[in-house]
Amino acid sequence: MKLEKFAENSINGLALSNEDANAILDGTSVNLLELLNQAYQVRKNYFGNEVRIHILNNAKNGKCPEDCSYCVQAKSSEVPIEDYSFKDEEEILNEAKRAYEAGAYRYCMVFAGRGPTKFRVQKLAGIIKKIKETYPIQVCLSTGLLSQEDTDILKEVNLDRLNHNLNTSEDFYPSICTTHTYQDRLNTLKAAQKSGLQICSGIIVGMGETNQDIVDVAMKLRELKAESIPINFYMYVEGNQLGPKAEELNPEKCLRILALFRLLNPNAEIRMAAGREIHLRSMQALGLYPANSLFMDGYLNTIGTNPFQTLQMIQDAGFTVTADKGLEELLSKFENAETTQSNPQDASSKAILKSLKELRPTAQAN
Ligand code: SF4
Repeated sequence: MKLEKFAENSINGLALSNEDANAILDGTSVNLLELLNQAYQVRKNYFGNEVRIHILNNAKNGKCPEDCSYCVQAKSSEVPIEDYSFKDEEEILNEAKRAYEAGAYRYCMVFAGRGPTKFRVQKLAGIIKKIKETYPIQVCLSTGLLSQEDTDILKEVNLDRLNHNLNTSEDFYPSICTTHTYQDRLNTLKAAQKSGLQICSGIIVGMGETNQDIVDVAMKLRELKAESIPINFYMYVEGNQLGPKAEELNPEKCLRILALFRLLNPNAEIRMAAGREIHLRSMQALGLYPANSLFMDGYLNTIGTNPFQTLQMIQDAGFTVTADKGLEELLSKFENAETTQSNPQDASSKAILKSLKELRPTAQAN
């Protein structure tokens, strides 16, 4: 397929061939700026120039019995994170309010662990119901492996979306985790879809996978019609079982990956997720040409650039935000706001763990 036809074909529902998808990633025959132009045409067709901001709430941190080797919350990790069990309902509701007021389009609650008990699913359902009744905000939940019965309960309380990342290809999966399988993850996604939930499922790149592994994930998410696809760039923190494998990532490769996912998943929300600061560096604004979404306020356990810088980047690049409040209003709100985050410059060069204050900004001090 000719490069100048990539956008037109994507919008018309034609998938890239495996050969073209690999050519996008290896960079030998596909010019980067022309590729971004093609990806932008597709993004613009479905999302205009709007950026959807997501804010994460790490609602249960650490002590996970699984051994995902990239994850600082895994039992096998030696990273000194701030462990805590389930945040109480009041704290989670306060953080939902905070996310809404910060202009978030979607509030994402993440609970570390293999999966919840039936009791925990009911508790989560009660919290989701209250958030949906109180704030006009989209809610996404990430809570490990779930059964059909679980996803039915969550759909009943109007959960909008379930997050469960594939993370990598079926072939590479055993290299990053041994306590559950790629198929386990797929089963959870299929249960969610059967219950009528939207699915959010993404990838972590830079873990030692091949280009074909990345292409396989993009193709699988196309097949699943995932509504939302976070692209995470592996961030090494000393003590991570996987080690510092991400050297092969550079800004150009990251942009090529974002463009590949956009062209194969034209109407999906493509998110520049964890690690954008470190791996896209000064090219983050170009990432908005294929991607239409990002996280603000950092990630599960690591800080990101502060909200003002993120909003300013969106404005400087000529984009706007999907929020009840305008971009100007949000910028002035954050311009002089006290941030919970450490020196934002640090987030662009290496992964910095969040402090307890950053993980639990609305918790009452003891
Ligand atoms: S199941 Fe989730 S929280 Fe647990 S180790 Fe894997 S990625 Fe981390």
